[in-house]
Amino acid sequence: MFLKRSKKHVYLKNMAFSLVSKEDPQKSLDVVCKDKQEYEIWISALKYLIVAGPPPESSSSLPKLADLITPVETKTMRDNIHVANDVFMVGDGAWGQLGNGCDTFISEPVFIKSLLNAQVMQVVLGDKHTVAIDKDGDLWSCGYGGSGRLGVGHTAHSLVPIRVPCLEVIVSVSCGGMHSLAVSRSGGLFAWGSNLRGQLGIDHVGDVTTPCSVSISQVVAASAGAFHSFAIVNDKSLYSWGAGDYGTLGRNYLDDSLVPCLVRGLEDVSIIVSGSFHAVAVDTKGCLYTWGFGSSGCLGHGNFDICAVPKPVSWFKDMDAISVAAGVAHTVTVMRDRKTMESRVYSFGAINGPQSASRNVPVPTLMTQFRDENIRQVSCGAFHSAAITNSGDKIYIWDVAHELPLVINGLEGKVIRSVNCGGSHTCVMVAKEWLRDSETLSCMACLQDFTFVHRRHHCRRCGGIFCAKCTCRRHPLLYLGHIDPVRVCDPCFDHLVRE
Ligand SMILES: [Zn+2]
Ligand SMILES: [Zn+2]
Repeated sequence: MFLKRSKKHVYLKNMAFSLVSKEDPQKSLDVVCKDKQEYEIWISALKYLIVAGPPPESSSSLPKLADLITPVETKTMRDNIHVANDVFMVGDGAWGQLGNGCDTFISEPVFIKSLLNAQVMQVVLGDKHTVAIDKDGDLWSCGYGGSGRLGVGHTAHSLVPIRVPCLEVIVSVSCGGMHSLAVSRSGGLFAWGSNLRGQLGIDHVGDVTTPCSVSISQVVAASAGAFHSFAIVNDKSLYSWGAGDYGTLGRNYLDDSLVPCLVRGLEDVSIIVSGSFHAVAVDTKGCLYTWGFGSSGCLGHGNFDICAVPKPVSWFKDMDAISVAAGVAHTVTVMRDRKTMESRVYSFGAINGPQSASRNVPVPTLMTQFRDENIRQVSCGAFHSAAITNSGDKIYIWDVAHELPLVINGLEGKVIRSVNCGGSHTCVMVAKEWLRDSETLSCMACLQDFTFVHRRHHCRRCGGIFCAKCTCRRHPLLYLGHIDPVRVCDPCFDHLVRE
């Protein structure tokens, strides 16, 4: 057998090869790889075999080629284009934080067309701004630009997401009130925006308008509050910095800190969630701790005191935390009972629902509205909260001041993957699928209305609907099983050429 690289299809260059039998040239095997990395593994292994010959039967030192290669997933493209998501936003858009090009309030979730091609993996919301990460680890932001919180080098507002210059591949991001934190693939931490109280952790105060490196390494997760920040590092210890009043830093003093310092008395931290002035942490055993400003009862300790060190919430001593969220003065958790394995939603702090006798409740209170629902994830905005069901078929949103959870309409039939609440806006991520005909009456590129002759065509990569002219280019999509070129829109074609 020998190696023959594909010349027939130029777009398969460095992606495919043929194995042809020396004895019988009619016998051949064409191999198309999922990506360049898989191709390189094949080529390296085949080159080795050509030089060294086949390994002896008993050899265990040579790794099996099959072990080096991850199987190509077969997906039904129409139902689930990729692991990427479609982004829907709802709520206050006064500063462009919805990313839909408008500055108005939206009462039903609206599809964010500007992120259609970006293959978005995560969206997080600040008080008046929004940051998204795409599949390549690039950052996009929109909304209020004051204090440089968009990270784009200036303080102007933006009604649509714009690219944030960051030199590293970003894997997760967290937005505080006016600043943001981004964790890179190599464990680095970047911060930008308001730095009034040292919340960027860069050893001085003063706003920063582009992502700058924080001197902490091996970061696995970060969470930003109103004027403070947290990071979990590789050994599962927790670091805090920024505004220290109210004991928010969890370090038993009330001074501000300009650089990350270890939070003592808390080990094996797996989750850190920052409210505006309080914090919620979960350790690897599932135990839940809170600390910070407790005047609303949002710490769940049975009082309204400030707590300057992490303290377990004794109410939850026989429960594991599944999902936790914190707002300005309230906390919402999904807890699973260790005996019955049943999950329940609890809230505490400023939760003046019709069922509550007083405005501020200092102990975890069961949200009976969810008694018959299996809730997977909760999120808190400044004064509102949201929850999604385990199956992803429903999303509830409620205002902590006076409303019961209500199912949000407009996402029927979609698979909801996650929800994230900001100051007064909410982002819902749903599994990416082909847009439905009813979702756009005009081409998403040239905006001309569809007619009997000006017909609809789906871009096979992003699932958007375009006219024939705006999807005239073709490209293979190997991860979806399209070896031959298929119809893609112009922005997707540009993405594919760059990849
Ligand atoms: Zn068009
Ligand atoms: Zn497309």
